[in-house]
Amino acid sequence: MAPNKVVIIGGGVAGLCAAIHCQRRGLDWTLIEGSDRLGGRVATRMIDGCRIDRGFAVLLTAYPELRGMIDLEQLDLRTFQSGAHIQRGGAFVRVANPLRHPIRGVISALTGAIGATDAFRILPVAMRAAFGRSVIDPDASYGFSARDLLRRMKVSEQLIDQFFRPFFGGVFLDGTLGSDAAAFEFRLAMFARGAAALPREGMGAIAQQLIAQIPNERIRMRTAAREINRVGDGATSARWRVTTNVGQAHDANAIIIALDADGARSLLPSLPLRAWCSTAAITWRVESAQLPFPLREPILLLDGDGDGPVNHLCSPTSVVAGYAPEGTSLISGNVIDPVSLELNDEDLERSARSQMSKWFSAESTRGWNLFCIDRIRHALPRQYPQDFAARPKMDQGDGLFLAGDHVADGSINGAMRSGRIAAEAVGALGR
Ligand SMILES: Cc1cc2nc3c(=O)[nH]c(=O)nc-3n(C[C@H](O)[C@H](O)[C@H](O)COP(=O)(O)OP(=O)(O)OC[C@H]3O[C@@H](n4cnc5c(N)ncnc54)[C@H](O)[C@@H]3O)c2cc1C
Repeated sequence: MAPNKVVIIGGGVAGLCAAIHCQRRGLDWTLIEGSDRLGGRVATRMIDGCRIDRGFAVLLTAYPELRGMIDLEQLDLRTFQSGAHIQRGGAFVRVANPLRHPIRGVISALTGAIGATDAFRILPVAMRAAFGRSVIDPDASYGFSARDLLRRMKVSEQLIDQFFRPFFGGVFLDGTLGSDAAAFEFRLAMFARGAAALPREGMGAIAQQLIAQIPNERIRMRTAAREINRVGDGATSARWRVTTNVGQAHDANAIIIALDADGARSLLPSLPLRAWCSTAAITWRVESAQLPFPLREPILLLDGDGDGPVNHLCSPTSVVAGYAPEGTSLISGNVIDPVSLELNDEDLERSARSQMSKWFSAESTRGWNLFCIDRIRHALPRQYPQDFAARPKMDQGDGLFLAGDHVADGSINGAMRSGRIAAEAVGALGR
């Protein structure tokens, strides 16, 4: 028997992808979204003519789940240069990604930005990232951390601390390199096989493309699930009832809970408590003529010293000029250190500005005007080996499925994948 009704709870990337796949399978589905906006954590808002993404985020074009779901051409992507500028001891050193820029990679090794020994030691993992098949399983877990992997490879503590820590700190929003080594290798593979990019209209355009693929009339906005209860056998009556904040009851034979870890746990208290990684994005506005040199390139600048709140910095307008009106540039300084995140806005900005004046000189940061600070306390589920080991199953039995980045890989790819898998499983119920 095919499930005659599917209720999808949550309209983030996971829920939207679940809806698209249910629609493609001809299932009878309804999506309920608690807020007044679809897209969840992937969002862009316009403030004073500037596009501000919800926290600093990028799309990795090699994500396998994008295929058949997202039209990259229509997003009109602008890409970051691969590699990074590392700030250490008051100067910037450029590190190239040897897989995408072989010649610059060799120069990085020769100029000491990486060091020939380190370049040799990371070669096996870099080759695996570029060509290996095993590293592209986004749900894999090795049971040990990225830091352990790098140490096993005898990569120098200097390279770990000055490059891998801030670079992957920005990716996992965790500055310890404690994320599972498999998740680290998956990201390496994505960086090796594609580009990091921003859509011309901001990251929110990714969610907009997903929204455009589903009929509006199947979506209930401002409708939050409060409770789910088993009410029948699924043959003579519906199996499940979803009760909402607006007093509606949605009966269904299958439910896809596409919420973040806390939201899912509020409906299913037996689910494990998941730790979160938090971040704050400080955006400054500056006249383009005053933008200091390395920020004029579409590339990440990393804190190799670890002595200030800003872990990674870039100018989004150097990637996509249209993020701000002509003549204006934006600078995005991103904080992941839990101690700095405790500071109030004023102290956080003061401390970040003092760090930036060491990177660029007090003179050149004088014209940086604070534009906004976005704090995202529940940004990414922590992805340590113990977190992966405790991930709940997507199939909870009896037509109840979980989707969302907490059951998969903590990324847009993971959210998309979980939504697809849940919808496929629902479609297979009746067979
Ligand atoms: C600052 C930041 C930077 C990031 N950077 C990247 C990056 O560079 N690359 C990358 O791939 N990923 C990045 N991510 C991660 C990525 O955005 C998330 O993994 C993904 O968007 C999660 O989608 P989701 O659908 O699982 O969850 P969510 O986006 O959290 O969606 C859940 C939805 O459920 C709704 N909801 C909540 N409770 C209820 C309820 N009771 N009933 C109904 N609806 C409810 C919410 O309003 C929301 O719309 C970043 C995330 C953040 C915050």
